[in-house]
Amino acid sequence: MSDFFDNFSMTIDGAAATGTETIAVINPATETVVGLAPDCSREQLDAAVSAARRAFPGWRATPIEERRAAVAKLGDILKEHAEDFARLFTLEQGRPIDGARMEIDYAAWWASAVAKMDIPVTINEDTDQRRSETRHVPIGVVAGIVPWNFPVNLAMWKIAPALLTGNTLVLKPSPFTPLTMLKLAELAREHLPPGVFNVVSGGDRLGPWLTAHPGIDKISFTGSTETGKRVMETASAGLKRVTLELGGNDAAIVLPDVDVDAVADKLFFSAFYNSGQICIATKRMYIHEDIYDRLAAALAERASGARVGDGLEQGSMFGPIQNRQQYERVKDLIADAKANDLTLLAGGDIPEGKGYFIPLTIVDNPPENSRVVQEEAFGPVLPLLRFSDVEEAIERANACEYGLGGSVWSADPEAAVKVAERLETGTVWINESFYVMPWTPFAGHKLSGLGVENGNEGLLEFTIPQTISMVKAAA
Ligand code: NAD
Repeated sequence: MSDFFDNFSMTIDGAAATGTETIAVINPATETVVGLAPDCSREQLDAAVSAARRAFPGWRATPIEERRAAVAKLGDILKEHAEDFARLFTLEQGRPIDGARMEIDYAAWWASAVAKMDIPVTINEDTDQRRSETRHVPIGVVAGIVPWNFPVNLAMWKIAPALLTGNTLVLKPSPFTPLTMLKLAELAREHLPPGVFNVVSGGDRLGPWLTAHPGIDKISFTGSTETGKRVMETASAGLKRVTLELGGNDAAIVLPDVDVDAVADKLFFSAFYNSGQICIATKRMYIHEDIYDRLAAALAERASGARVGDGLEQGSMFGPIQNRQQYERVKDLIADAKANDLTLLAGGDIPEGKGYFIPLTIVDNPPENSRVVQEEAFGPVLPLLRFSDVEEAIERANACEYGLGGSVWSADPEAAVKVAERLETGTVWINESFYVMPWTPFAGHKLSGLGVENGNEGLLEFTIPQTISMVKAAA
């Protein structure tokens, strides 16, 4: 195979860094080793943070047009090597190759879109006596930490705004999916000043080292709520700025007036895309009793007919669970549903053999307090929940410690908006799901996060306000 699939190195101070220790990246479809990623040592992390600190004054002083070009170039690199990136993505992440291509294209486009965003200046006061304006200046060295479910997109949500606003970055991908980001940084070395964009890989010790590092000024973290709490605790020592995008247990509320045939595909997609491993996947589906049986049958038919397999094999619609730990968790949820005699409308039988494959599984109206309803599955397990009164559905949807996203499905947009307004989540979609754009602020309520990504608000989280007040009369 070509070098694209081999010789993975970190990027520290614009140069390759390997080292003596490595972590093996496992293909979740075959359980074989895809590649070896360097296991960053403490000295290497120090070098990455120092390089980012040294690069910061120059980068913040670099004209915005040049920073725009640099961010857009990262998108170009993804496009230029799109097929190799997509293949590497499927090998390490598991998602079928068409979905991998979509993620690479989307991340490339995202970089180009963020590159065009403006950093606003607010005029607070402009009178004969005084002018006061607020600018948004970069914070310094940003640590970006990302999970394994959308390893390229979610990284780009941090790389593009951090660099555009004039910060330098140390990015840490998940130990389960570091290879695509290591390659991106490698290919970007010749296009960015040394130290502006560093990527380090490593095992469980690296995240805590990075968040505790005194040379880091801001942490932009995406991952689980449990880890997010730890990150916040660590950040408090140096009063580091934090943005936390955490877990979710999104509810869809399906009202009785929907056209079941028209919405079934969309609802199916909202629950099972990427085998349910999406923070904003529909993880609880509340369906009005008038249409429950018909919609449940339509979803079960789709789930039973879905082909789950190796993402590089023709015809695989859904890939494996990304890693063994998560696979065991999802299997345990299914075992718990079975042990409690819950009815499965599809799936539930875990195949023997290699690969972390779990069939798309639908649970028929389990009790609200069952684990499959209360816990974030982060896998292809969907509880359908019957309701008779929309008030009750809203109450059940909100009775949740998470507040990331949710959706409302109805033929009556006004009625849907009324329901949407009452959901305690950062985003509510109506008759669609997953619409997240560079210009839409994305924030978790409750235990789903702190702060915002994307949109102007998200861009500004990579900056701090600086107000300059000036009397106009000469001193
Ligand atoms: P995770 O919290 O285990 O890991 C996320 C990242 O944090 C990884 O890079 C990991 O190596 C690192 N990490 C682990 N322990 C750390 C520590 N103590 N200090 C610093 N970094 C540490 O999450 P995961 O299993 O990789 O991802 C799944 C979770 O992420 C789900 O809960 C999902 O809902 C959430 N998620 C949220 C969003 C969002 O935007 N809100 C998006 C995708 C995933």
